[in-house]
Amino acid sequence: MISSIYQSSDTVLTPMIRQSLASCIEDGLVLNNRPKFFFRADDIGVPSKNYSRMMALFLKYEIPLCLAVVPTWLTRKRWEAMNDFVKKGQNLFCWHMHGYRHMNYEVQGKKQEFGPIRSSTAVFNDISRGRKTLQSILGDKFTPIFTPPWNRCSLETMQVLKEIGFKGISRSYGSLPLPPAGLEDFPIHVDLHTRKEKTAEQGWQKLFKEITRGMQFPACGIMIHHMRMNEQAFVFLKYLLECLAAHKQARIITFNHLI
Ligand SMILES: [Zn+2]
Repeated sequence: MISSIYQSSDTVLTPMIRQSLASCIEDGLVLNNRPKFFFRADDIGVPSKNYSRMMALFLKYEIPLCLAVVPTWLTRKRWEAMNDFVKKGQNLFCWHMHGYRHMNYEVQGKKQEFGPIRSSTAVFNDISRGRKTLQSILGDKFTPIFTPPWNRCSLETMQVLKEIGFKGISRSYGSLPLPPAGLEDFPIHVDLHTRKEKTAEQGWQKLFKEITRGMQFPACGIMIHHMRMNEQAFVFLKYLLECLAAHKQARIITFNHLI
């Protein structure tokens, strides 16, 4: 589903959106004039037109990107198909783990792959298998950070992650429970493509607030879902990257700089 903010028929950004983005960044700079940002793209593993288009944009602006890879979606063949970007990007990209199968197991409440319904053995098995798969395909390109599907998981899962050697977890800002000591928390403050607002106006207002607010944290996390991007979503992402690249005091990093 495409978020309401990208459903207008315009494929160019209106001056109002351009101006609002510039102002929300300026507002954020008032309180923090050396902001850091990281981008996290979820649901990676299958090459596609949108995937290539997203990667080409980050390469064009030389902006780092964290890629959350679903272990059971990735094969050697698919990794080879993505290899051109891997090579060109060198240290720009940070490849880490996004769940194991990206499947919901909960029968009630919110979707979770690693929620309370899973036994600790099942959690341990899935996470260690996923890590093994990614390590064997990605080699030294693999970073031991975990993004749980739907941005949520149990405390038990985080204990398993720590036990297996993961260094950090990335969920939405404000997610509970907190990770155990030794497992870093890298929250997302800005959601670009899975927004729930009914109207575009509400969506834009909230998005710009998220950016200003996110800039007050040690690193403002911005989440991307390339499979939910349309033309308008690409136009906005391009402009956002352009704006951030133009602000020399802003630093864009990956999880590799945080662990
Ligand atoms: Zn996902």
